[in-house]
Amino acid sequence: MTIRIEAMRLIPGRGDPIDSGVVVLEDTTIAYAGAAGDAPETPNAEVVSTDTVMPGLWDCHGHFMGVRGASIDEISTIRPQVGAMRVTADARAVLHAGFTSVREVGGLGVFLGQAIDEGYVEGPTVYGSGGALSMTAGHGDFHAMDLDAARHLSARYFGEDDIVDGPDQARAGVRRMLRLGARVIKIHASGGVMSQIDDPHLPQFSPEELAAIVDEATRMERVVAAHCHGKRGMMAAIEAGVKTIEHGTYMDEEVADAMKENDVILVPTRYILDFLTREGDRRGMPEYAKKKLAATAEYHSNGIALAVDKGVKIALGTDIWSTGLWGTNGRELLLLTEVGLTPLQAIEAGTAMGPETLGPQAPKAGQLREGWDADVITVAGNPLDDISILSDPANVTAVFKGGRRVK
Ligand SMILES: [Zn+2]
Repeated sequence: MTIRIEAMRLIPGRGDPIDSGVVVLEDTTIAYAGAAGDAPETPNAEVVSTDTVMPGLWDCHGHFMGVRGASIDEISTIRPQVGAMRVTADARAVLHAGFTSVREVGGLGVFLGQAIDEGYVEGPTVYGSGGALSMTAGHGDFHAMDLDAARHLSARYFGEDDIVDGPDQARAGVRRMLRLGARVIKIHASGGVMSQIDDPHLPQFSPEELAAIVDEATRMERVVAAHCHGKRGMMAAIEAGVKTIEHGTYMDEEVADAMKENDVILVPTRYILDFLTREGDRRGMPEYAKKKLAATAEYHSNGIALAVDKGVKIALGTDIWSTGLWGTNGRELLLLTEVGLTPLQAIEAGTAMGPETLGPQAPKAGQLREGWDADVITVAGNPLDDISILSDPANVTAVFKGGRRVK
């Protein structure tokens, strides 16, 4: 089965756009991507005409959790089976918004991804982490519960206990996530906003614990994604060898330089700060989170702008965790341009950079290149002139995942 997409412009994901481009999909891969003049003859192809053709988008930081409001504590009051049913709708919504891949860093993604791969649920390819490893009293702990109950909640909702202390438990925690099918290991290396008593400024996990996690993950060909707000947490995580820094709120020159030196990627998650600032109150964000959000939000845009300015690698991530917000992920592209990326750079952050956040687990996706996965979207209009076009799923006129048209 051959599909020929003829476009006014082809955005390859990495590199310059091409006016009047053609992409040929042959079964599950891209057979040709380039100028129309050099395109092969395809007499039996189904032809699709469009304004813009580009790679399927990647959200490199999301959570398929199935909670409805702006409080993660909600997972203690609903059954995981209900959450799991809800995220099947989120999976379809994000796919139809043009996202053919999601790197899911704590949630039900490993289970959802399996059901999608088996063909039971319509959705993107999901690269899940299982839970997110946290120290006791860390960002992934539920501080208002007794510890046994908090551990039980993680294990019940995400499939395995993800609260670990000491290098041996940290290593065992990585292994528990692997047995869930984790393709990336997620950790909390600083305090966070959506947790009760921990301070976003302070580092979490000792250097020995971080080293054990990175060692075990690396041996099993997984990279480590580190949630970090404060500087000391970022520096310790980079020193330990993580591949990505998530959020990166209190970024400064020293952190940015260390990231560049160690080829660490920043996943800024502008979306969630913007969303919670505008809508958190109405959506039931807890009091403790409001205070912490106010303290972090003003630093975040400056910190990310500094990283962009310094040339730190940026990958798109939204940090969407609420059911119903999935499908609005494209807004992150607009928000990335507001901290200094050009529209073309924002598209690269949302396409070619995606697989790089998976290290050895990366598929050949995120770029329109011969022999690569046929994850491709067509778009009405020119996102290089107006990046907000990609915020509206209605402008994503066709989605091909693995060569199959799913929208
Ligand atoms: Zn997150």
